[in-house]
Amino acid sequence: MAAHTLVLATRNPAKLRELARILSAAGRGDGRAVRLVGLEEFPGAPDVPETGATFEENALAKARAIADYTGLPAVADDSGLCVDALGGMPGVLSARWAGRHGDDKANLDLLLAQVADVPDARLGARFAAAAALVVPGPPVREWVVTGQLDGRLVRVPRGSGGFGYDPIFVPDGSELTTAEMTPEGKDAISHRGRALRALLPFILAQFAQGDT
Ligand code: IMP
Repeated sequence: MAAHTLVLATRNPAKLRELARILSAAGRGDGRAVRLVGLEEFPGAPDVPETGATFEENALAKARAIADYTGLPAVADDSGLCVDALGGMPGVLSARWAGRHGDDKANLDLLLAQVADVPDARLGARFAAAAALVVPGPPVREWVVTGQLDGRLVRVPRGSGGFGYDPIFVPDGSELTTAEMTPEGKDAISHRGRALRALLPFILAQFAQGDT
């Protein structure tokens, strides 16, 4: 594997493109400075269950497992929707809120049913994300950062972009749901974009030291 390779602990090509865009915006993603690869290059890589109590724990667990398996610096993220009226849930359970992992429609329908009697003024919510970088040792080095996007829920889904809870989430200062925004518009403000941009200095410093 070439020097300056960074593994993103995902099999989701959209997440790989998102980190590539952020690195590229920082002038380092042209394929020479940092080579980004996803888990499709490592078919035997472990699937790490998201059993942590926080987004940070889950992101770190994934990045640790992939850095350990590949011997390369690894970045992982975890994210979800936190609803005030539900005490911050679904939170780390966002992807499997209705009982089946990744059933976006069932998750969204269940959430809307749960807030049916909550007054509009108390529909505050936020998207939250953690992003972790783990560099194999010795000594192993680890960083974890967070990002969030504050907003509120709407009861009638709108928009066809994005995924998950996007059709029912309106960021503060916007009238559009995140499903009605362009991908670039959402990237610029999203919890994941914010977390990944906060991690960027640590990634770049790592490669500046020529450690890999
Ligand atoms: P993961 O970080 O890929 O495990 O995603 C966790 C879950 O949180 C997703 O399946 C969605 O239900 C929800 N989620 C996280 N980020 C977003 C977002 O940007 N829009 C909508 N839903 C999201």
